[in-house]
Amino acid sequence: MRRTRLFLPTLKETPAEAQVVSHRLMLRAGLVRQSAAGIYTWLPTGLRVLRKIAQIVREEQDRAGAQEVLMPTIQPAELWRGSGRFEDYGKEMLRITDRHDRELLYGPTAEEVITDIVANEITSYRDLPKNLYNIQWKFRDEVRPRFGVMRGREFLMKDNYSFDLDKAGAVHSYNKMFLAYLRTYARMGLQAIPMAADTGPIGGDLSHEFIILAETGESSVFCDKALLALDAPGDDIDYDVNLQDLVDQWTHYYAATDERHDQANCDVANDQLVTARGIEVGHIFYFGTKYSEPLGATVQGSGGQKITLEMGSYGIGVSRLVGAIIEASHDDNGIIWPESVAPWTVGLINLKVSDADCTATCERIYAELKAAGVATIYDDRDERAGGKFADMDLVGIPWQLTVGPRGLKDRKIEVKKRAGGEKSEVTIDALGDWIAARAAL
Ligand code: ATP
Ligand code: MG
Repeated sequence: MRRTRLFLPTLKETPAEAQVVSHRLMLRAGLVRQSAAGIYTWLPTGLRVLRKIAQIVREEQDRAGAQEVLMPTIQPAELWRGSGRFEDYGKEMLRITDRHDRELLYGPTAEEVITDIVANEITSYRDLPKNLYNIQWKFRDEVRPRFGVMRGREFLMKDNYSFDLDKAGAVHSYNKMFLAYLRTYARMGLQAIPMAADTGPIGGDLSHEFIILAETGESSVFCDKALLALDAPGDDIDYDVNLQDLVDQWTHYYAATDERHDQANCDVANDQLVTARGIEVGHIFYFGTKYSEPLGATVQGSGGQKITLEMGSYGIGVSRLVGAIIEASHDDNGIIWPESVAPWTVGLINLKVSDADCTATCERIYAELKAAGVATIYDDRDERAGGKFADMDLVGIPWQLTVGPRGLKDRKIEVKKRAGGEKSEVTIDALGDWIAARAAL
């Protein structure tokens, strides 16, 4: 995309309303604009990041055997009366009345909707297990929306729901998601730590929050240092086998949020215990028949008996992750996107638009990058160099190519890597190989 055409309103000044670095940078880098408290418009560059994150989430859900659906944002109150949660959920639920005086709500989560679908459509044990997910906007009327998209009122969540015949099956589904989550975050350059958690209003008896460490995190967390060095399962993971051993590699180390942490009973040595702040980027639950029972999600077993389905639910804060990744990866100059979620892989800077050679060379490189399928932002504005460099760093473009008259005399272009700031030179003749390497990513 040409910078002269792109709608990318960057800001030099730090917006006064933003308290944390990710919020400041998201406003300054032109990713979002606030529409009302906790409600945001995603501008083109921010939307590209949001979509890339959603796509990684999607790929890992699919790989683990979940199937994508799309549920509505607006749900009938009646279903929530069926589960008993309509009154319980309290003021966080945005309640709506339509023109026929029917009560509706903007979904804060979707256990009821999906359980109702399964209750109506699945009747035999042969059709199980099933795991259904969607990536959909949610609304929670948070008392204190803050930190930009990290605690919004309207936010994008991946939520899925597993349906199994018995507890062993449900725990297997839970374990799949546990491992799929680790893979998902690792692909975004994040080390997320699973922590045993309370189940809260969702209910149930097995639950983990996935937390990334960041100074601005809302929860205080405690964990064994060893967890920070564990690797997520690789591409060769086989979700059909017993996964308990893989899960145990993580759960046998101590990790707890402050609601659960008990210093007196924590046997991790002081120098091995990490005490930090964390951001919750996901939460998984196994809760048995809490929703299937009241909503009548049953099937006929192989002997004709009635089986009430065992369920779990699993959430990832897709829009929160945009902020969380920035909290984990930035410097004084701006965002440092991991390549996997960067809005553009390459930033091409034309240092002197009035110079015919510079512009012709840039146009050629830009065409080559486009042909190779490398997402490129081409700064073709007739502006001073300092502002162009600053913008590329602010927006966090992983690779920056600078074309200027001085370098061109030796047929050279400067390549800068945003992470670490390392600079090198590439000759125009060798650029084809460099582009091919970016395209392969
Ligand atoms: P929190 O404790 O942060 O309020 P939660 O326990 O209410 O989160 P869940 O119901 O488990 O959240 O939702 C799944 C995921 O959705 C969370 O792990 C988080 O990443 C994300 N999420 C929850 N509330 C918000 C919000 N207000 N804004 C953005 N993302 C959110
Ligand atoms: Mg939670």
